[in-house]
Amino acid sequence: MHCHNVSLSTHQIDDLDKCIDLMDNIGGNVVSFKITLNSKPKIENISSNIVEVLGYSQEELLDQKYTLETLIYQKDIKYIYITVYQALFARKRQQQLSCRILAKDNTVKYITIHFLTYREKQTQKLHMIGYMSDDTEKKSYKEKVDYLSYYDTLTGLGNRAYIKKEIQKDIESIISSHSASALLFLNLNRFKNVNDTLGHKIGNRLLKHVSHRLRSCIKEDDTLARIGGDEFVILLSRLNQKTLRTHVDIIAKRVYNILERPFSIDSNLLHTTTSIGVAIVGIDGNSADELLKNADTAMSLAKKDQNHYLRYYQSTMQENAATHLEVENDIRVALKEEQFELYYQPQVDIKSDQITGAEALIRWRHPEKGIISPLKFIPIAEETGLIIPISEWVLKTACQYIKELEKDENVPSSFHKISINISSKQFKQPTFTADVKRIIKQSGINPASLELEVTEGALINDLDDAIEKMLILKELGIQFALDDFGTGYSSLTYLKKLPIDIIKIDKSFIMNMHTDNDDKILTQTIIQMSQNLNLSIIAEGVEKIEHLNFLQERGCDTYQGYFFSKPLTLKAFKRLLLLTKQQPLHLLRDTAQA
Ligand code: C2E
Ligand code: CA
Ligand code: CA
Repeated sequence: MHCHNVSLSTHQIDDLDKCIDLMDNIGGNVVSFKITLNSKPKIENISSNIVEVLGYSQEELLDQKYTLETLIYQKDIKYIYITVYQALFARKRQQQLSCRILAKDNTVKYITIHFLTYREKQTQKLHMIGYMSDDTEKKSYKEKVDYLSYYDTLTGLGNRAYIKKEIQKDIESIISSHSASALLFLNLNRFKNVNDTLGHKIGNRLLKHVSHRLRSCIKEDDTLARIGGDEFVILLSRLNQKTLRTHVDIIAKRVYNILERPFSIDSNLLHTTTSIGVAIVGIDGNSADELLKNADTAMSLAKKDQNHYLRYYQSTMQENAATHLEVENDIRVALKEEQFELYYQPQVDIKSDQITGAEALIRWRHPEKGIISPLKFIPIAEETGLIIPISEWVLKTACQYIKELEKDENVPSSFHKISINISSKQFKQPTFTADVKRIIKQSGINPASLELEVTEGALINDLDDAIEKMLILKELGIQFALDDFGTGYSSLTYLKKLPIDIIKIDKSFIMNMHTDNDDKILTQTIIQMSQNLNLSIIAEGVEKIEHLNFLQERGCDTYQGYFFSKPLTLKAFKRLLLLTKQQPLHLLRDTAQA
C-alpha cells in the first residue's frame, strides 16, 4: 500500500464526525461534509444548512437521491477527481478546489471546497472531509457572461457553441494522441407531444430529467450538450481506435435503455424513446459543423427506421463496402496460403532489466500489398466472423512457439510467457474456453506460459459470463491481462470483480505524458490503483527514456515499447533472446531496434 494519506483510528474518526455536527450548529453558508471515496463516492454526512446554500435537503443527499456526479457541474468532474486523487496519492493532504454545482433551483453555484483525505485504519476505507462555501456572489461579471454564452440555462449543460468548441479540440488532438472521438446526436421521440399536451413547464422538467440521466451514461472525458429543444449531443472522447464501434454501441445502448424508462413528473408518467445518429470525428467530417450536420442526418434516418434506434453516418459505410468485400476475400486466401505471421515484442522488467515475456502480434504478409497492419484487417475480420479461424491460427502458432521455447536452452531464465490478443468476438464465443483448452492440450504446453490479453469491450456487456470464462481458464494456470487500460470505462468497481492478473496501461497515456499533465496524474493513479489491488502492471508505448524514468519512479513493473524494441520476426526475436544471455539488456537496445 503506497497511499500517503493518513490512517486514523476509530476514536479519531468519531472526533471528526463530532466536528461536523459542531459546524452544523454554527450554520451560515459554510457547509461541512464527509464523503466516502471507495468505488463510487457517497455522501455520508453533510450539515443541514446545505439546504440554504444549494436548496437540497440533508435527507435528499444522504439518501442518494442525487449522486455527486449529477450535482457537480459536468466539466468540473474530471478536475475534481484529479485533485482528490492528488490528495490521496501525493503528499498533499489538505487541498482546496473550486467547482460549479447545480443548485436545486437549477442555478449554478460557484463553490470553494477545503478538504482533507484519510484512511480508516480498521476498514481501510477512504474518506474525504471538509467544508465548502458559496462564492457565487464573488464571481466576476465576465465569468458569468462567459458562462451564459456557453451553457444552456435550463439544464446546466453546454450549449451548441460549447460543444463546437469541444469538438474542435478533439479534431486537433486525435492525431497526436492516437485516439478517436465519436459524436452522438440524440433526439427524443414524442417530445413534442409532451409539450403540446402537458405544457412547457412539464416539458422543461422532462428535459432536465433527461439531462440528469444522460449524464450518468458518460465518463469524465466525454461532453454532453443540449443544442436545441429536445436535441442532445454526446461527444465521446479519447476512445481507442480499435474498439471505437464497440464503445459507441455500448454507450448508445445505455442511453437508449435509460431514456426508455418512464419519467415520473408530478402525477404524470411520461414515456419517451430516443433516436441516435453517430458521426466519427475525422472520418465523417473535419469541422464541428460538418460533424454535427452528418450526425444529425444519421439521426434522422434512425428516426425513420422502425427497427433501429442507432445509425452511423452512411457515406463511410458505402465507401467502405467495396473494400470490405475485397479484404474479406483476401483474408480467406491468406488463411489458406499461410500469409499470416506472428511477430513478437519483448516485455522488459524495469527493475532487473530482463526480458520476462513477449506479446505476439499478427502481421499479414500480402503477396502484392506487402505487410498489412492488424489495425486494418482485424476489424473487418471481426465483422465477417473470419476472426475465429484467424484467432485459432494465432493461438496454435503461439503455442507451438511456447513449446519450442520450453526445450530451448538459449532462453534466459527470466523469460516465462507469451501473451496473445483475444478479440472480443472471439472471447464472446460460447466455445471459447473449450477451444483454448483443446489447443493447449494438443500443443502440450504448460498453460502458465500463456497469457491472454482482453479489452474492456469484450468483458463489459456480460460481466458474469466473462468472469466465468476467465476463471475456467485461470484454473489451468493461464493468466489474463486487461489490454488498453484507461481508454474504456475503467471503473474500480468492476476491476475489483474481474479475475485479472495484469493491467496494461494504454500507450496513449504514456505517449502524452510529457505534454499532458492529466495523463501523467492518471498514469500515476493507475499504477497506485493496481498496486492497491495487487495487480501487476505493464506500460505500453514506452518510446523515450523519460517515459521509462517516470514509470520506474512510480513503481511500474514492466514495459513494452519501441524504446527497447519494436515487434520482431520470430527469427529476430530468437536471436535477441540468445543475445540477452550474453550481454546486459541496455547494451542490446540498438540491436533490438534493428
Ligand atoms: P495492442 O494489443 O494494443 O498491441 C500493441 C500495439 O502497439 C502493437 O501494434 C505494437 O506494435 C504497438 N506498439 C508497441 N510499442 C509501441 C511504441 O513504443 N510506440 C508505438 N507507437 N506503438 C507501439 P500492432 O502490432 O500494429 O497491433 C495493433 C493491434 O492489433 C493490437 O493492439 C491488437 O489489438 C491487434 N492485434 C494484433 N495482433 C493480434 C492478434 O493476433 N489477434 C487479435 N485479435 N488482435 C491482434
Ligand atoms: Ca495487446
Ligand atoms: Ca494494448
